[in-house]
Amino acid sequence: MTGKTLLMIPGPVELSPGVLEVLNNAPPSHVAPAFIEKFGQSLKMMREVWGAGAGSQPFIIAGSGTIAMEVAVVNTLAAGQRALVVHTGYFSARMAEMLRRRGALVTELSAAPGQAPSVEELERALDQAQAAGEPFHALFATHVDTSTGVRVEAEAIARAAKERGVLSVFDGVCATAGEDFKMEEWGADIYLTASQKALGAPPGLALLVLSERALRARQELSSAPPMSLDIEQWLPVMRAYEAGRGSYFSTPATSLLLALHQGLKEVVGFERFGARGAPARIRAHAQVGRAMRAGWSALGLELFSGSPEIAANTMSAVLYPAGVDSSLLGAIKKRGVVVAGGLYPGREQDYFRVGHMGYMVERPDLLLQTLRAVGESLIEAGFSADLDAGLNAARACF
Ligand SMILES: *Cc1c(COP(=O)(O)O)cnc(C)c1O
Repeated sequence: MTGKTLLMIPGPVELSPGVLEVLNNAPPSHVAPAFIEKFGQSLKMMREVWGAGAGSQPFIIAGSGTIAMEVAVVNTLAAGQRALVVHTGYFSARMAEMLRRRGALVTELSAAPGQAPSVEELERALDQAQAAGEPFHALFATHVDTSTGVRVEAEAIARAAKERGVLSVFDGVCATAGEDFKMEEWGADIYLTASQKALGAPPGLALLVLSERALRARQELSSAPPMSLDIEQWLPVMRAYEAGRGSYFSTPATSLLLALHQGLKEVVGFERFGARGAPARIRAHAQVGRAMRAGWSALGLELFSGSPEIAANTMSAVLYPAGVDSSLLGAIKKRGVVVAGGLYPGREQDYFRVGHMGYMVERPDLLLQTLRAVGESLIEAGFSADLDAGLNAARACF
């Protein structure tokens, strides 16, 4: 917590006191014994949070979510191979562009803004390509597209891909540790995220887990990825740290690793509802998501993401009501809360976005403060929001 303003955007997020405390240290050497231990533990905790299988491999690389996406793209396929992108917004479009730059033959399966293509449509697209003798090598989906607040049906998508021998890659940057995901059980091949979203650490780390199949896909590529993005370069390093030995390919972001370690510890040690670990933390995010949606609705607002079933639990994309525009953001900020504007191309002025992931599962008080700031700002803008109803509806969910 900065103490000045409350940062409620979909990443970076407010940090827990525990993570902030860890950040208050000089950067350790990448081969200091205590650092090696924490790096290894972080990789192991990733396995747990991701629900990863024994043959899979976690990677922690300095970089952003975008870099994690790029690592996934360049290690999965080479020029001329076919990729299907489930398009649910700005970040899916970015993934498609990365694939095109890699030389992949990209098909995008789109839906109206705020919607997601159905699993039936996806299965049809996969089957038609197969029947035409031009099967997809891999499919890419954004678990929660941060531009729309839409969550895809990751389990059904991963299973559909697995059944057909197609690799599945999920951008979990706005989802991992905040939305349900069981990598091995569902047969997903890559699940990636960044440090600054639901894992509750500062920006700067790209995190991925690759299945055995995904690791094999890299070995079978006809052309190697750029060196710094090549998982073959990083693989011995990750294996060494997990086995308790230091290693070097490129200096890890040691300070950030310590913060991530603490963030992961808070996820796997999370206790609520008589449960422990990532499943409990994800349930807490579902509760927060319900509370925020109840709050918006009782304030008289509607979501950009079409229906509650596909609305993310980690963030809200909320439409401005009639007569209110994006000047609302300034009014909310004046009340000490920072939220984000719209991000869907061409619809930026229609809605705003609020992040409620990570440490926020511990702080219903700050979530209510956010709803209050939005409600008061709406009233100031001339919209008749029922502030008490909004706050009570959210409170009732906790
Ligand atoms: C934030 C986000 C990204 C991009 O992450 P950066 O760290 O900003 O590069 C990619 N995908 C999704 C779904 C995101 O929410």
